[in-house]
Amino acid sequence: MKIINEVKDAKTIAIGGHVRPDGDCVCSVMALYRYLQKELPEARIDVYLEKPAEVFACIPGIEDIRSDFQTQQVYDVFIALDCNDERLGNALPIYRKAGRRINIDHHISNTGCGDLNIIEPQRSSTAELLYDLMDPQKVDEEIAKAVYIGIAHDTGVFRYSNTSPHTLETAAKLLAFGFDFSELIEKTFFEKTYVQTQIMGRAVLESVRFMNDRCIVSMVTRRMMEFYQVSTKDLDGIVNQLQVVSGVDCAIFMYEIGTLEYKVSMRSNGKVNVADVAVKFGGGGHVRAAGCTMNGTYHDNINNLSREIAGQLKKQKEQA
Ligand code: 5GP
Ligand code: MN
Repeated sequence: MKIINEVKDAKTIAIGGHVRPDGDCVCSVMALYRYLQKELPEARIDVYLEKPAEVFACIPGIEDIRSDFQTQQVYDVFIALDCNDERLGNALPIYRKAGRRINIDHHISNTGCGDLNIIEPQRSSTAELLYDLMDPQKVDEEIAKAVYIGIAHDTGVFRYSNTSPHTLETAAKLLAFGFDFSELIEKTFFEKTYVQTQIMGRAVLESVRFMNDRCIVSMVTRRMMEFYQVSTKDLDGIVNQLQVVSGVDCAIFMYEIGTLEYKVSMRSNGKVNVADVAVKFGGGGHVRAAGCTMNGTYHDNINNLSREIAGQLKKQKEQA
């Protein structure tokens, strides 16, 4: 199945992704944007996405993204990438009005929200899945670069268990374009600003282990973000840093987004299914990486999350 067969008659196409877009989301959106521009030079193609982090300035065409979401246009097709409609944020009204809706994603918690759903949870990333929906002859270096960065981000640079032989085969084809992959990964994935490192240090310093040290949690308040002059985009990577602590099966990181409102990120080594935990609180994700938004105090949220995690671990013990 190729994506072009699904959109070739469309005169207007919109592409969108999830709120607080991560590397896979930004790069998938940009790769598809560029690909469809090449395939359908006559069509009008627009991208609606929250403003990506500065590090993605290296992706060609990123300045075309429409982060104001202001449009009266009713698109023939809307393609929602890396999420379901609940996470489209301000793009949701544009999605709802579109003549045909296509949903492409790899999140196990996504049941599909489109007229056409291409949901493949075994894929490392939406970028990997997208590449197979493209004609390889039409993929150029810029598209390859975006797909590569998307895959690299969602696999923790080919480290997480979602990395499959197919992921690496795809990456090999992309590398053949000869771009400087090492610099791209360094700049978009590993490099941090000084304040990003400071707030990560603070969050790690203030982390607390619980449930016999099998879980670890930390939190960043809005006051802390103001103090370090950082935004929520600067908090990426903190939860992964908590997860590397030996003996930890589940890491939780929260940051305050409003009064008694927290964005929660969870990571697991596979012993806890954090997608199931997140879904219980209206979120979603993958078995080893998931998130949700929770209302209540920090401690109430920890209590509620740990009840779910403890329940899972207890069930496993009973089944063993
Ligand atoms: P992160 O913790 O890095 O924000 O997200 C981890 C994974 O869970 C990502 O694949 C992300 O798309 C997904 N995720 C995070 N927050 C939410 C949420 O509120 N709802 C859903 N459905 N997925 C989420
Ligand atoms: Mn993804």
